[in-house]
Amino acid sequence: MLIYFNGELIPKEEAKVSVYDHGLLYGDGVFEGIRSYNGKVFRLAQHLNRLYNSALAIALKIPLSREGMREAVLKTLRANKLRNAYIRLVVTRGIGDLGLDPRKCPKPTIFIITDKIKLYPEEFYENGLEVIVTKTKRNIKEALNPEIKSLNYLNNILARIEVNRAGMAEGIMTNVEGYVAEATADNIFIVRDKEVITPPTEMGALRGITRDAVLEIAGTLGIKAHELPFTVKELYGADECFLTGTAAEVIPAVKVDGKNIGDGKPGEITLKLREEFRRLTQREGTPVYK
Ligand code: PMP
Repeated sequence: MLIYFNGELIPKEEAKVSVYDHGLLYGDGVFEGIRSYNGKVFRLAQHLNRLYNSALAIALKIPLSREGMREAVLKTLRANKLRNAYIRLVVTRGIGDLGLDPRKCPKPTIFIITDKIKLYPEEFYENGLEVIVTKTKRNIKEALNPEIKSLNYLNNILARIEVNRAGMAEGIMTNVEGYVAEATADNIFIVRDKEVITPPTEMGALRGITRDAVLEIAGTLGIKAHELPFTVKELYGADECFLTGTAAEVIPAVKVDGKNIGDGKPGEITLKLREEFRRLTQREGTPVYK
């Protein structure tokens, strides 16, 4: 597998970052997780927009244009002859000294890993996930805005450790006010009275590319969709619940904190949205091969 590393394609074994890279020393950097389906990259422009917005939010100037980055992604996929892939695009602050001052890092490090996508077991989709609400709260936006997809994922990892200890599949994080924000690595939706609801990003969620696609799809299917705050109590009382993300796509959650959501089975609207999302990923995307 070849890795794009600062403008070159090099073998995986040779792709190494410096111990002085601030991406490693401080989690100072941004990233994206993107996916290609059948030779087409799903919503590449949206992912690149989010990457450049995240970079802007941390005053990181990416030394490559959007067009250049787009080409780099496509070139890496082609070099590895991949059609169905997971793409990890990372931009770090670069090499500096041991102080945290970003001015000491003149050149951001850019790398792109493309690999086979690791899929969730099919039974997760058929039976739905069992989740918990974590004690770890989502970062407050005044401290580290969850809309920034930064390399600093400890907030989510602490929640993930709780999930692992509980032997569950995923964890739902609330903000400090008690409103549901998102899952540790996915967005969350509930269905109530046949309408879908996802928390506004201000509640502490990343603006997921899959989340946006699902909101769009709901519109085309004539299902009312809202970005509205909801509490854990409202999550317990929802008719259906599902999570969305690049890797997970649309995945039902059927139990939360040991209680069934609705009848404890993947819901009808969840399955409809999942089906339509799958269709969309086959239909649209940036072609990798001419
Ligand atoms: N929230 C968090 C914290 C995430 O890490 C992700 C995955 N990137 C998502 C939501 C889902 O976003 P997307 O649909 O763009 O993958």
